[in-house]
Amino acid sequence: MTDGPVLLVTGGSRGIGAAACLVAARHGWRVAVNYALNEAAANAVVSEIKKAGGDAIAIKGDVGNSADIVSMFEAVDKHFGRLDGLVNNAGIVDNTARVDEMSADRLERMMRINVTGSILCAGEAVRRMSSRHGGHGGVIVNISSMAAVIGGSTQYVDYAASKAAIDTFTIGLSREVAAEGIRVNAIRPGIIETDIHASGGQPDRPKEMASSIPMKRAGQAEEVADAIVYLLSPSASYITGAILNVSGGR
Ligand code: NAP
Repeated sequence: MTDGPVLLVTGGSRGIGAAACLVAARHGWRVAVNYALNEAAANAVVSEIKKAGGDAIAIKGDVGNSADIVSMFEAVDKHFGRLDGLVNNAGIVDNTARVDEMSADRLERMMRINVTGSILCAGEAVRRMSSRHGGHGGVIVNISSMAAVIGGSTQYVDYAASKAAIDTFTIGLSREVAAEGIRVNAIRPGIIETDIHASGGQPDRPKEMASSIPMKRAGQAEEVADAIVYLLSPSASYITGAILNVSGGR
């Protein structure tokens, strides 16, 4: 496929981002799969897309580093020559801690990757997609979390606050660029079975929390990816500034 719309997914190598890349490719998107460290995982996503007849590349870059963000978008320009969509998915949690145990370094890293990175990536995308800059429009989906609403008490209030910032950013940016051909929406996943729980020291969290979820189970990455790809699609053409909970009722 040489003429499909082009999508950049940050953190597209694993979990929700990888699922979003695969589902988007099935829907005709050409995909730039960003990753931070796990090149093998990113290459596996690219291979799977190509095997199915799609087009994808892997792009290394840390969204917590502004120079990496610039290079990542330049790599998209160079390879595809256009950009039509961005999924601001890359995000981190940290180990369980109370606020009175959190260091300045922890908070700075959390906000730099989860908040500043997403806003800088959106800025790069707007510069390419907005009619104000000569672009043809586009769509942005930001990945928030139900933690933004629940607050993350005793576990990770810093992460929850970073995701609340994503919610507010989504509303503000959506209004800023609505007349420039760009839709901006967010998704709040609930507890989804991915590696992120192990990276926060709680590998069994999805299993342990299942009984507290109204649907009595954790979600799968593909269930979030389906919602992402819907918001990317023309079926969502009148939806902007929306925040969709994909959380099994949590
Ligand atoms: P995950 O399984 O831990 O995967 C994280 C992905 O992000 C990987 O592809 C990783 O790349 C990439 N990444 C991490 N730090 C990065 C950085 N600084 N720059 C670029 N890429 C980076 O996470 P996930 O569970 O799929 O989460 C994806 C998003 O959903 C996050 O924003 C998260 O907060 C949100 N979310 C997840 C859940 C859940 O229960 N899973 C719930 C609510 C919200 P490498 O492979 O190179 O490490």
